[in-house]
Formats: sequence, C-alpha cells, structure tokens
Amino acid sequence: MKHDRDFTPDYGSPAELSPGFRRLTANNPGPFTFKGTNTYLLGTRSIVILDPGPALPEHIDSLLKACAGSKIEAILVSHTHMDHSPGARLLKQETGAPIVGCGPHRAARDLFENEINPLDSSGDKEHQPDRQLQDGEVFQCAEFGLETIETPGHTANHLCFALQGEDLLLSADHVMGWSTSIVAPPDGSMRDYMTSIEKLLSRPETNYYPGHGGKVSDAHTYVQHLKRHRLQREASILALMAKRSWSIPEIVNELYADIDVSLHPAAGLSVFAHLEDLVERGLVSSTPDLSLTAHYSNGSKPS
Ligand SMILES: [Zn+2]
Repeated sequence: MKHDRDFTPDYGSPAELSPGFRRLTANNPGPFTFKGTNTYLLGTRSIVILDPGPALPEHIDSLLKACAGSKIEAILVSHTHMDHSPGARLLKQETGAPIVGCGPHRAARDLFENEINPLDSSGDKEHQPDRQLQDGEVFQCAEFGLETIETPGHTANHLCFALQGEDLLLSADHVMGWSTSIVAPPDGSMRDYMTSIEKLLSRPETNYYPGHGGKVSDAHTYVQHLKRHRLQREASILALMAKRSWSIPEIVNELYADIDVSLHPAAGLSVFAHLEDLVERGLVSSTPDLSLTAHYSNGSKPS
C-alpha cells in the first residue's frame, strides 16, 4: 500500500502525471481538504477538467492558463461540495464549456428538521449540470472515454470516473489519499458508502487519483483497509452500546479522544452515520427517534 502522504502541491502550476493527464491543486488547504482540492486536466488539444474546486478566481485563472491554446471541451463534476463544484460555474462563464457529471445537490433524507446540521454549509445547492451522467455511462470525449461509476456515501450524488483502456480511476472524495472520507448524514450515508466501497473492490483499477492528496497505488489494499477501519469503528460503537445508553457527544469523547476538539462535530456526524445504519439493521435503538440529540443503546426498540 502506497500513497503520497507527503504530497506538496505547487499551487498555480499543474503537475504532469502522465502524457495528457495533469493535476492542478487549488489553494484551499484546511482540516477537511488537506493541501487543497485536486483539479484534474485530461487531454492535450481538447481538455476535460474534473472538479474545478471552490469559487477561487486565481485557481480558475491558473486552469485557463494551463489550457491556453487548447479547447476546454467539458467541465466534469464528481459531487456537490463547496470545495469541488462552485468553480465549475466560474469556468463555464469564462469558457462556455458545458458542466457534466453529478446531478444537483440532494439531501437524501430529512433528518435535521429541528436541528442544525454542522456540515450543511458544505453542500453546493446551486450546482446545475448541463448533462447528468448515469452509472455505467461512458462520457465520450474527443481524446478518450470516461466511464461513470455512481458511488454514493460521501454524498448521495457522488461519482467516480474510470479512464477507458487505462488502469486509472478518479476517486474524488470517495477514496482520498490522506484520510478516510467524511460520511455525514443526511447527504452522506454509511450503508451507501460501504456498498460503494464493495463496488470499487469489484473493479479492476488499482491506481486512484483522489480529490485530496496524492495518487493511491495498490488501491484495493488501501480500500480494504478503509473498509476494515469502518467495520472496527462499528464494532467499537456496538461494544459501547452493550454497556449502557449513550449520547453522540459521549460516544465521540470515548472513541475520538485523540483528535482535536474542533473536529468533534464532524466526528459526531460520522458516529451518527454508523448509528443510522445500525438502527436500520436493528442492532441499535434510539430514544426518541434517530437524531443528533437522541440516546442510543443496544438492540431494537421494544414495540
Ligand atoms: Zn466532498
């Protein structure tokens, strides 16, 4: 298992990964974005740009500079998070290229009626593709084809793309090079995430290029490791449930003692994602109904 943890992007200038395949990282580093969002440029004379990133004019300028003399054929978007998709609209304004890929932002379930979702601001509700790609659909470009792989879990509309004829998968935020993905309901779903993990394991590609961090080689080993990590977390939550009833902050204090307190709300959502899945599977019950403020304990609710 190899991945570039010491990934140091040169903001503003693209890194050539192979002929006709470049990566330009946006200058938006942070606790959820690592060194910044990776934008990928595919093609030489006719270029497809994947995930132009946040609405950062200087990043859009760098992309335009990197494409000077070539045609920008399409702007591809993997999912509607503020660090991936808003740049698509700026780039479309400049180039007229169509926005292709994931559908509009959709919170799959309304779990937060009376609560504030701490990560709600991460969803890009203005994203509107000119063309939405479906699972298995090949987006045929001038110089190559990209197979669409629906991979819900991190968000409900998340897509990965496989470059046809190559061992190369663009994994966006489903599999990242530096950290596990955030799975935060209601847009994220742990059950969907685990299904999407299996989906990638059933595919042949072993080289992944993620939305944050460097290339992931020997990706199946890495994805198996991600799967084990989630199953271990699930087992830890179930072990707590066997003792007594717990609130989400109590579970976070117990299981995430080693992370910075500023990340606890995000960890709480991750715990919530597991609890939602466990409640659906009848292994955990909530009092009252499933929410961020409910208490959770062993077994199904007595009827
Ligand atoms: Zn994301």
